[in-house]
Amino acid sequence: MTKEQKIALVAEKNAEWAGLSALESAQTAVRWAVETFGLRAALSTSLSYEDQAVTDMIARQVKGSVRIFTLDTGRMFSQIYDLIDRTNRRYGIRIEVFFPDYAKVQEMVRQHGINLFYDSVELRHLCCDIRKIEPLKRALKGVDVWITGLRRSQSVTRTDMQIIEYDTADDVIKLNPLMLWSEADVIDYVKSNNVPYNKMHEQGYPSIGCQPCTRAINPGEDIRAGRWWWENPDKRECGLHSRKH
Ligand code: SF4
Repeated sequence: MTKEQKIALVAEKNAEWAGLSALESAQTAVRWAVETFGLRAALSTSLSYEDQAVTDMIARQVKGSVRIFTLDTGRMFSQIYDLIDRTNRRYGIRIEVFFPDYAKVQEMVRQHGINLFYDSVELRHLCCDIRKIEPLKRALKGVDVWITGLRRSQSVTRTDMQIIEYDTADDVIKLNPLMLWSEADVIDYVKSNNVPYNKMHEQGYPSIGCQPCTRAINPGEDIRAGRWWWENPDKRECGLHSRKH
């Protein structure tokens, strides 16, 4: 598809789904992506509550195949690996795992140290670029529709998102089926459908990224306050979903 065709499709679908409820729009959007694009649609999962809910919709409620992939940065919590395994077994799927280029990681660590991300925003971005962005670009090769578990209310950086968008940085249609969902909606879906989830979510970790860049939050704190907590809130994205070229 050309860029113009993707932009036109995004406008058409946003208009078509505008009146649907949060649940209806999510299920309709996921079904449309899988049935229309098949293996040219892909869910990127970080095994969050949200991504697990979308995985469940894809695996159980939609006929057809779709790719589901995750990025192993090399700095993940062990609970993430356990959850990948449990999810694969539960749904009879094999989540694709993409790793960073080892030579780039090696050179970065040699130059800047193993925990460089604490030293400056620039070095934190360098680490995210090498461990996440480059593998993501590889994973998205040949993908027309990139499915995410993002929600509008998750962050001050996500207030203008739409259920379906054209992502200029990756020349891909980005589908955010849970855009309208609240955190409570997601947890309710996961629990009532018996979806495997990370028990860390019940121990003060609503948003889980790499182990050294994630801390538990206190009651009342913003749900993403535990991600890169030493930085200014409006800079707290890894770049996976915030690149504007
Ligand atoms: S979240 Fe932290 S450890 Fe993970 S890639 Fe980014 S800077 Fe590196």
